[in-house]
Amino acid sequence: MAEQLERRAERAPARFGGLDYAPAPEATDHVKLRADHGLLIGGRWVEPLSGKLFKTINPATEEVLAEVAEAGEEDVDAAVKAARAAYAKVWGRMPGAERAKYLYRIARILQERAREFAVLETMNGGKPIKESRDVDVPLAAAHFFYHAGWADKLDYAFPGRRPAPLGVAAQVIPWNFPLLMAAWKLAPALAAGNTVVLKPAETTPLTALRLGEVLQEAELPEGVVNILTGAGATGAAVVAHSAVDKVAFTGSTEVGKAIQRTLAGSGKKLTLELGGKAANIVFEDAPLDQAVEGIVNGIYFNQGHVCCAGSRLLVQESIAEPLVDKLKRRMATLRVGDPLDKNTDVGAINSRAQLDRIEELVASGEADGAQAWQAPCELPQRGFWFRPTVFTHVAQSYRIAQEEIFGPVLSVLTFRTPDEAVEKANNTPYGLSAGVWTDKGSRILDLANRMRAGVVWANTFNRFDPTSPFGGYRESGFGREGGRHGLAGYLDLS
Ligand code: NAP
Ligand code: MG
Repeated sequence: MAEQLERRAERAPARFGGLDYAPAPEATDHVKLRADHGLLIGGRWVEPLSGKLFKTINPATEEVLAEVAEAGEEDVDAAVKAARAAYAKVWGRMPGAERAKYLYRIARILQERAREFAVLETMNGGKPIKESRDVDVPLAAAHFFYHAGWADKLDYAFPGRRPAPLGVAAQVIPWNFPLLMAAWKLAPALAAGNTVVLKPAETTPLTALRLGEVLQEAELPEGVVNILTGAGATGAAVVAHSAVDKVAFTGSTEVGKAIQRTLAGSGKKLTLELGGKAANIVFEDAPLDQAVEGIVNGIYFNQGHVCCAGSRLLVQESIAEPLVDKLKRRMATLRVGDPLDKNTDVGAINSRAQLDRIEELVASGEADGAQAWQAPCELPQRGFWFRPTVFTHVAQSYRIAQEEIFGPVLSVLTFRTPDEAVEKANNTPYGLSAGVWTDKGSRILDLANRMRAGVVWANTFNRFDPTSPFGGYRESGFGREGGRHGLAGYLDLS
């Protein structure tokens, strides 16, 4: 017996806490990268008339993945003309039930090619594979399925109206959810009978381009969707084109305002999904361990590159200390590193420019007098990385409490009463989302009514569903995406 016990002791690891995860890298060999990509115009992949190309990299390794076309004004003009022709000849007059078939097909092909899309999204954007695999790609498919269902039921969605498509939609999207944002934009526009010119973000063009291949595989009529890669100037040319009927933009408040100025007086319909600085409010009666998971999901999901991220934690004073202690313990277990590893929780920052912006804002927080704590973790040598960070001793006036950091950085503030929580939650120029953690249902309803936020999550955070309208107030923009409300933005209901 003693001998047996001894032998087992020898086999036991020296220190149980020293056990670590084995590497679990997702394979990339099934993703065929093409060396260069053209523009999708009128159903064909064409070289840019601008003659310009730019490189797109993997932010986790800084390796060049491919060269991508940079569309200039002539390319934009050709794409808008192709979209206009497809609208007039085919898509604008096709019965909704027929349009639906294409959307269902796109959704199914996305599901079939889910693994390829997840890996490519992670390689080009730096987000953990478990997020691209379990969130981005399935939700993108869900948006096409959901809107396919509406395509032949628009009369029922808006009873008493005669819903009609608008024409050509110009859509400009950001880099934080490249495929998912493309799906959010394309699915309702197409279901409603519009044709599209889509401009993906400069740093993450690859999944949108591959989605172009899916559209071809689904035999979507030529010109119904045109995809123009490029940088800010391409986006500006797309939204300013005189033959565009509708502009849908997701991105920064600054660019959103510039677009609004460009479009003023043009009669074009506009929806803007801009930045945010959401309050995640935890009351003393909340289930604290669940709240900690919600806080972590709220700000460290997708490296905090989330417009509706819970970047301001408002915690009731009586529980501030134990909650922040629990949060730090949990943060210390986050695995930061190779986004293609299935165990990674926090991946790479999307670009050098975004990393610079995060570092600048974090330095301002320290200079203002806030206290930073960072999860201890080793960062890879190459690529763009930032440790999950939490700031305590934050005053409302600090930039880290007012400005969107768009990185894995949380600012903690405290409150005593529900009124004070509401006042602090509303004390930003934004109004996109908020979270409330409490045991009391009545308090949830009360706060949801009094907070200026388009989405309020209760005892959860960062939940998305195509049936649920998403969008902001004030400097977070206007218009909704998802649900019946989202369809309305692509229809003439007069
Ligand atoms: P951004 O600079 O505003 O870019 C968004 C898109 O607009 C990109 O495709 C961009 O091209 C293009 N663009 C840049 N300048 C333009 C111009 N003058 N006219 C037309 N298009 C132009 O934003 P970002 O820095 O990429 O993304 C982060 C921001 O987006 C954050 O503030 C975040 O809150 C916001 N966001 C909001 C939501 C939402 O739903 N409310 C969702 C995601 C992100 P380039 O890629 O070449 O810059
Ligand atoms: Mg930008």
